[in-house]
Amino acid sequence: MTSSPTSKGIIGFTTTIPVELIFAAGYEPCDLNNIFVTDPDPGRFIERAERDGFPKSMCNWIKGIYGVIMERDMAGVITVMEGDCSNTQALAEILRYRGVRTIPFSFPYDRDREVLAREIEKLGNELSIDEASLADVELRIAGAREKLWEIDTMTWSERNVTGAENHRWLVGSSDMLGDMEGYGKAAGEFILNARKRESFQGIPLGYIGVPPIVTDLYDFIESVGGQVVYNETQRQFALPYETKDIVERYLLYTYPYGIFARLKDIGDEIARRGIQGIIHYVQAFCFRAIEDVILRETISVPILTIEGDLPRALDTRTKMRIEAFVEMLEGMRR
Ligand code: SF4
Repeated sequence: MTSSPTSKGIIGFTTTIPVELIFAAGYEPCDLNNIFVTDPDPGRFIERAERDGFPKSMCNWIKGIYGVIMERDMAGVITVMEGDCSNTQALAEILRYRGVRTIPFSFPYDRDREVLAREIEKLGNELSIDEASLADVELRIAGAREKLWEIDTMTWSERNVTGAENHRWLVGSSDMLGDMEGYGKAAGEFILNARKRESFQGIPLGYIGVPPIVTDLYDFIESVGGQVVYNETQRQFALPYETKDIVERYLLYTYPYGIFARLKDIGDEIARRGIQGIIHYVQAFCFRAIEDVILRETISVPILTIEGDLPRALDTRTKMRIEAFVEMLEGMRR
């Protein structure tokens, strides 16, 4: 990956951050997770991290991100120290030790508006943005996000977008592949084509948790009669909130503020989308697996928890569990 000739270079990041600031500063944003998992050979990034001493018993997303940074030329990496991953501090330290320019950013756990406003301002100063460029980006990115919200709505209302397509469009919204206009335009073309399809009939399911590292989850769910019509975290990456205030937008964004901030969104979308069952994905060695306890006790529809580890196809046992879950939901429907 090389940066476009018109940009000042690539700024990577470890999870969704106010990407408007990177565009406004004239850099090309790059969500490191997406580079890792869409690579034809993602395993090599994990191997690189393990060769450099990362433990086997550690989340493979972190190792993949590290491997990507070691391989690519970047002007800097924004590391989200609070509101994402308990491993990021150690990741940031090793990156700094290896000579990578790291830029810390934090989402305040208590969702304090003033603290978040300060963090956004600090990041803007670090990237040397000016107000006029930010205002211009805000206008342009809003058009692209509207298209992504439309794809998301079509997934459950018209039922003509697959769970995998919904996942890909929304998960890519964190950096819009470095080109917000291009991404918005491609999304518009996708919408026109999807509207020519028949509706899908699978049992409507929700997917919650971090995006999957496994490669064939959505296709498998559809092959056994289900259809994911809600991708919780990926939808959040597309900032589905109509507000012109950047601080407000990233306060409404639920993902960084813990499980209680997420529960309302999940409950509302289950009701709105007619979701009949939830698949909760947890990543091996991720602290977020503990949240499963609360989710199981609070979510109003049946829930299946599955775990992924490496960027490869689902294992047979997980496939059998998903199939049995969809069959059970079908039985409840009759
Ligand atoms: S899956 Fe969990 S442990 Fe892994 S990077 Fe994401 S938050 Fe961190």
